[in-house]
Amino acid sequence: MSENEKKPVDAVVIGAGFSGLLSLHKLRNELGLDAVALEKGDGIGGTWFWNRYPGALSDSESFVYCYSFDDELLQDWDLSTRYLAQPEVLAYLRSFAERKGLVEHVELNATVVRVHFDDATALWSVETEDGRSYTARYVVGALGPLSAANIPTIPGIEKFRGEVYHTSNWPAEYDLRGKRVGVIGTGSTGVQVITALAGEVGELTVFQRTPQYSVPLGNRELSDEYVREVKANYGKIWEDVYSSSVGMGFDESTVPAMSVSAEERREVFEKAWQHGGGFYFMFGTFGDIGVDPEANEAAASFIRGKIAEIVEDPETARKLTPTDLYARRPLCDSGYYATFNRPNVHLVDVRDTPIVDAAARGLRTSDGALHELDVLIYATGFDAVEGSYNRIDVRGRGGHALVDHWRDMPRGYLGVAVAGFPNLFTVFGPNSSFSNNPPVLSIQAEWIAEAIRHAAKEEAVLEPTVEAEESWTTLCNEISDGTLFPEVESWIFGNNIEGKSTRSRFYLGGLGAYRDILANEAAQGYQGFVAGRS
Ligand code: NAP
Repeated sequence: MSENEKKPVDAVVIGAGFSGLLSLHKLRNELGLDAVALEKGDGIGGTWFWNRYPGALSDSESFVYCYSFDDELLQDWDLSTRYLAQPEVLAYLRSFAERKGLVEHVELNATVVRVHFDDATALWSVETEDGRSYTARYVVGALGPLSAANIPTIPGIEKFRGEVYHTSNWPAEYDLRGKRVGVIGTGSTGVQVITALAGEVGELTVFQRTPQYSVPLGNRELSDEYVREVKANYGKIWEDVYSSSVGMGFDESTVPAMSVSAEERREVFEKAWQHGGGFYFMFGTFGDIGVDPEANEAAASFIRGKIAEIVEDPETARKLTPTDLYARRPLCDSGYYATFNRPNVHLVDVRDTPIVDAAARGLRTSDGALHELDVLIYATGFDAVEGSYNRIDVRGRGGHALVDHWRDMPRGYLGVAVAGFPNLFTVFGPNSSFSNNPPVLSIQAEWIAEAIRHAAKEEAVLEPTVEAEESWTTLCNEISDGTLFPEVESWIFGNNIEGKSTRSRFYLGGLGAYRDILANEAAQGYQGFVAGRS
């Protein structure tokens, strides 16, 4: 396609999920820019469009799983349960897009394959797989931190005659009733899909590699009185959320676990278990579960005790019981461990007996057993954060590829910009705050819009300096090294993908501190940026 055939716009937003829609709203409706969002799916919603597997639900409480900036939207919102299931989040995002007049500015089925910077014109050229092409001064990557599916290689999988799904590409129509279903993976997704499917399918075989600590979700209907109170107090709620660490809308504990008696600790954990919520259990009970090994072990051993109480068969209980630190993204569930008491649910520990290959009728493990399946579900997670970008050919100044920039470790300044990639901004770029997603992406989308307003006014290109990016990356690594989280393998540190660097992908210093740092950067006139003329 020649340059003349490229459609000139002010800004391209890549993605139309939670982050992309807010970014599009900010750029179009608040800055008055000619902005378009390019969305790979054939509907808007991002994560909530793709991850429509049975049991999919946000485990952030509903009153804080939304945009905070628009009071009218908050007041109109029909809050009915403590947590929102996938169809409800998707409906919320669709209604947001309609109310803000965004729908006609989202191009669907638009998979972006190339994003190239032209040094001479300081314009980005953005191309989709099907040949749509734009030039834009600004690009906002809103690809989601968890959007590139991780699909394990199983020798002979092409021979398998059953249906195969990854949870993040769930079919619009399916019928699993009475079928023999296998699920690989027991992370947040696996725990949800396994619990939801157990009563629906014929036989369910769970292929578990690493057992998980999970606590009850505690979902429930919300009373009218509770909802009225939330809506009347949103000002204070958001103030608290935006100055907290994980941004989940509960009081985070600062009490060291070992400062109280063993009896008191048990009571606190028991109360939290009854209350429900994974982040609440980890951050609302005591303040040092993520940093002090003794505190961590206290929480872990409480959950192990619960597993022993819930799971009837001792051998199944043993396999389901984690022995490592309680230091992954905290999970919660609607009866996960009890699911394994059902006669139709079978647990295969693939650490003991790895999957060796696939046959026409199922998966074979190293003990020679053939696990017969009609359907295989991969709940195997994502090539997180930079994985979302690395599927696109992104080239910045001097034709430098983003994938090369991130080869030894993912780097990004404040999670929102990358050195060598002028006027390209990222929502959930490397080293964004690890907190409840809507507040994080709201801080970022807001900040990016203001940065673009500033750049447009000054006719400047905004690009972080190498030094600023390096020092942010170093800070994020130092903070995470001061916690227990890197000691356990997970997608947060890239351990789930072979060959990926295993450094921090998040700022673990807390949402409040993160917001202040971003605000300070803008207030100081973007000192971490080179502001060349456009
Ligand atoms: P995940 O946490 O990375 O879990 C993937 C699972 O697949 C793990 O159990 C992993 O085992 C297993 N696995 C991967 N490759 C495997 C292989 N080759 N053989 C056997 N097992 C394999 O991914 P996820 O569950 O999709 O969750 C990712 C993130 O999405 C969550 O941490 C969360 O932030 C978000 N999420 C949130 C919710 C919510 O409630 N709001 C729901 C779903 C997802 P290992 O542990 O041994 O690697």
